Order: sequence, then structure tokens, then C-alpha cells
Amino acid sequence: MDSHECAARMAGMSTESSASVCIVCLEVTEAHTEAFCNACGGVYHLNQRSDLPGKDCGEVWINEEFQALEFACNTCLHPEEAAGGLDEIIDLDEAATVSSLSQETLLLAAEQGTLRSKRLSGGVVVFERRDVVEFAARRP
Ligand SMILES: [Zn+2]
Ligand SMILES: [Zn+2]
Repeated sequence: MDSHECAARMAGMSTESSASVCIVCLEVTEAHTEAFCNACGGVYHLNQRSDLPGKDCGEVWINEEFQALEFACNTCLHPEEAAGGLDEIIDLDEAATVSSLSQETLLLAAEQGTLRSKRLSGGVVVFERRDVVEFAARRP
């Protein structure tokens, strides 16, 4: 019965070290795709093996001041996307910067009603930041 006991203990150990769930996409991570976010402490996907397939749900970079690796998940890197954004009013200029789209594209979408906007007196068009981010994300 010694060998059986040993196998059971090994099985117990292997389940302990796996079965982490990514806080960004909620899928299970593997040993080579597991990283810990320095901001929230959560586990997220970060493929650390170029020879194996894996997804990235965050980033890692070198902090030049401390010469140390820093880890952050996409939820902490892009809180405006995860939290649904702030109800912040921005003008056309800033909307173009936020969305990486041209002002013409945004104005056209505003005229067609596919992007929520408001025309103020004087002809200035304003948007909510959240709408602009969502609009940009919807585009192919
Ligand atoms: Zn993930
Ligand atoms: Zn995080």
C-alpha cells in the first residue's frame, strides 16, 4: 500500500500547484502562463515560454529605476475598460486621441447616431469618454 499512498500524495501536490484562474479572462492558467500582478496580487495569463502556446492577459516590463521586473494584469493596466469608464465629457480633439480615430470618422458617426454626442452652442461637439472607447472597440 506504500506505492498507492505515494501516488495519492503526488496527485495532491500537483493539483495544489495548478488550478489558478486568471482574474482577467477567468480561464485556468498553466504553470508557464501564470504571473502575479504587482498591483492587485491576482493571477493572470502571461506566456513566459516562446516555444509553447499561451495567451497574455497582462504585461511584464523592466523597471529601470529598480532593475526589477514589474507585472500588471490588463484589469489594472486598463481600468477604464474594465470598470466601464468614467462619465467624462471630452471634446472632439480628445475623442480622436482616445479612440485613435480621425475627427472626421467621429463626426460622421455622431451625425449618423452610431456614436452618442452632444452639440453645444457654437457648434462644439462633445462626447462621453466611455462612448468613444466603446465605439473604438466595436470597430473592426
Ligand atoms: Zn487570462
Ligand atoms: Zn492586477
